[in-house]
Amino acid sequence: MVKHSSRILLSQSAFKNNLNFIKKKTGAGVRFSSVVKANAYGHGIKEFVPMAEACGVRHFSVASAFEAEEVLESINKGSGIMIMGILYEDDIPWAIEHDIEFYVYNYDRLVKALEAAQKLNKKAKIHLEVETGANRTGLQEDEFPKALDYMKAHQDYLVFEGLCTHFGGAESLSNQFKIDRQHARYKSFLKQCKRKKFMPNYRHIACSAAALAMKDTVYDMVRVGVAQYGYWPSPDIYYLHLQEVDKTSDKPLKRIFTWKTDIMDIRDVKEGEFIGYGTAYQAAQDMKVAVLPLGYSNGYPRALSNRGHVLIRGKKAPIVGLINMNLFMVNITHIPGVSLEDEVVLVGRQKNNVINVKSFTNFTQLVNNEMLSRLPAAIPREIVK
Ligand SMILES: *Cc1c(COP(=O)(O)O)cnc(C)c1O
Repeated sequence: MVKHSSRILLSQSAFKNNLNFIKKKTGAGVRFSSVVKANAYGHGIKEFVPMAEACGVRHFSVASAFEAEEVLESINKGSGIMIMGILYEDDIPWAIEHDIEFYVYNYDRLVKALEAAQKLNKKAKIHLEVETGANRTGLQEDEFPKALDYMKAHQDYLVFEGLCTHFGGAESLSNQFKIDRQHARYKSFLKQCKRKKFMPNYRHIACSAAALAMKDTVYDMVRVGVAQYGYWPSPDIYYLHLQEVDKTSDKPLKRIFTWKTDIMDIRDVKEGEFIGYGTAYQAAQDMKVAVLPLGYSNGYPRALSNRGHVLIRGKKAPIVGLINMNLFMVNITHIPGVSLEDEVVLVGRQKNNVINVKSFTNFTQLVNNEMLSRLPAAIPREIVK
């Protein structure tokens, strides 16, 4: 097989550290669902899922049937899979056949699920999603009693696996009033279940931010995405953690992701010459540049043109000129002895220097997610200890 122009490494020990850290926060006996939508936030489902299983994870959440299929092909310990988002009607029988759990977010969907389950003579594992104030998906207050009765009446084919909702913005303290309101509404749905003596196997509402910082939102299961990959959902959540923790015993979240490439060529550029497209960079003196074999089509943000840097020989090499579709250039004038054999770090540590994903986006973690989830699936991912 020929070589790709960059590679992603995933640290199993860092992941294990994160898992332990999160489990300590949520407490024992709470099921951990690893959220691996968007190709495991860019980390690569095919490689990440078996690694997570090797570390003891037994449940995965995705946003679509398409992703669920990829997880199904990647697991080898029979872990549970849950679709939180789009499952086309045509694919409901497929989900039931493979024991894949799925969200039901309106009444019609419940009827469709029963039809499919009866036809297959196999139970469908249903998570009833309720609308609590994010106004995306979820059963509305007025259709919920009907849905609950329907579930109860058809328990021979419909398993009440979960009752869930999703917070819209739990990572930001300024949203706390809204999160509290969502939680209160969730509790009123729960109360209806209690009154009908018909409870779900799993009550789950907490994402990373809630699992890390809002203990009362942790029920039977947490759905953790960003934190398991080693990122704080926001500065707010990290701040709350720092307030609570004895720092000497703290093992904080660690980035599991490293991104590397190679030097394609090294060349001298004379003073006054332009580098790359247009006139975005003009050499102010004679300089040496390294040409790197990837660009914005490979997930390296074009916005870093003339701004970002990479690590070569443990030193920062600033980007010069525009990021091209599949090339960009860095200044190595100040780094002695660079050769074609030198490894280039795009994200990660090299000697005493680190480039974080944050330095790509610099503002919010939400943008971190965007940058990571856009990394092309074609980049090879490799697990390292
Ligand atoms: C993405 C997602 C999560 C995980 O969110 P993080 O903040 O990354 O932990 C949990 N639940 C649902 C429904 C999601 O879509």
